[in-house]
Amino acid sequence: MPDRALPQRVAEFVRTRVVPQEPVLDAGGPAAAAVLRALREEARTSGLWALPLPRELGGGGLTLREYAVHAEAEGASDHGPAALGSAPLLDVRMLARHGSPAVRERWLRPLVTGELRSCYAMTEPGVPGTEPRLTAARAHARPDGSWRVSGRKWFTSGAADAALVTVLARTDGTEGDREGLSLLLVRTDSPGFRLVRELPVFGAGGQWEIELDGVPVPQDHVVGARGGALAVAGERLQWGRTLRCLRWLGQAQRAFDLMCARAASRTGSGGPLGGHQLVQQHVFEALLALRTTRPLVHEAVALLDAGRDARTETGLAKVAAARMLQRVADSAIQVHGAAGLGPDTPLPALFRSGRAARILDGPDELHITSVARRVLRAYGEEGPC
Ligand SMILES: Cc1cc2nc3c(=O)[nH]c(=O)nc-3n(C[C@H](O)[C@H](O)[C@H](O)COP(=O)(O)OP(=O)(O)OC[C@H]3O[C@@H](n4cnc5c(N)ncnc54)[C@H](O)[C@@H]3O)c2cc1C
Repeated sequence: MPDRALPQRVAEFVRTRVVPQEPVLDAGGPAAAAVLRALREEARTSGLWALPLPRELGGGGLTLREYAVHAEAEGASDHGPAALGSAPLLDVRMLARHGSPAVRERWLRPLVTGELRSCYAMTEPGVPGTEPRLTAARAHARPDGSWRVSGRKWFTSGAADAALVTVLARTDGTEGDREGLSLLLVRTDSPGFRLVRELPVFGAGGQWEIELDGVPVPQDHVVGARGGALAVAGERLQWGRTLRCLRWLGQAQRAFDLMCARAASRTGSGGPLGGHQLVQQHVFEALLALRTTRPLVHEAVALLDAGRDARTETGLAKVAAARMLQRVADSAIQVHGAAGLGPDTPLPALFRSGRAARILDGPDELHITSVARRVLRAYGEEGPC
């Protein structure tokens, strides 16, 4: 029986437990780690832990479609997914589907329980992330079948706290081949693994440059088929983009609510700010962006949940949701005046998310061209009417 109160309980947990701790969590360090530990414990005892992760591994067992109902509220804070244990969903799903029996046996449960964290490293400083075929990281096979991985990755989210990192590296073929790229699951405590530096994004931490120098990886820690990385990565990215879109909707809704509350409560000589038509225009355009994006995102959710190809729908949703978050956060800042840029509201962080959204998981341009090409191909196949 679905728990009908669950969406409200998730929203309340994020609003009353996670949001008040955002300044501490944003600052990072030992204080943030202690607060996160306490929030995670509370989420577990409240029955809100890891809702979309497999039940047999300690999660809540919700399908993507069922989880989508909560994902907006959970993602309203950047720290919601980590506090509520759903952050490893993409890695757990990828390893459950494509990991060897040894990988599944050794790593899945501690990822779901939150004992260990993981991250994912595709992007490199030296080659365009939009062209993974050019990946420079290499993995060399040893006579015993194990691998040694070398290369440099950057903007690896959460690498400093991760026990595991899935690394995209060339195992076969030559630069530019689509085949010959593999995903290797690397322990970050292995010899040759190094955190190079943190890469703050508009001042916010969490992204890291990492180096791998002959890092040993067991033979059975290749994820998916040897040489088949791009198929696994493509599948992961469709889910990843859709999850992010749900979270961006939650963040935009939060910015919208703040904007409207400010417009209604801040009063000048002629009445509240919301009495100005140009402020009303901000409200209208932001609401329109939110309401037109939400169905696109849920269309992608429905297709993925049904196991169908959702490349066009995730591309549309991703571009729409990224633009929408940036636009709504920008309007909310404008209506707040200087207060919108200062430290007393989450608006700078929400705007930062919206700006980064247009680049991460593939920049807008990539989605625009690949959706348009796919659509045009279908017309070409059918020929002129
Ligand atoms: C906050 C944040 C978190 C991230 N987390 C991760 C992570 O955990 N793991 C990971 O591997 N990566 C991560 N990334 C990296 C991200 O996925 C890449 O930045 C992104 O895929 C783009 O790659 P690039 O930066 O190399 O840009 P490039 O590929 O160098 O592209 C630069 C620009 O060129 C233009 N461009 C590129 N291709 C085209 C095209 N086909 N048509 C038209 N214009 C084009 C676009 O304007 C694009 O923004 C993260 C990035 C950010 C900002």
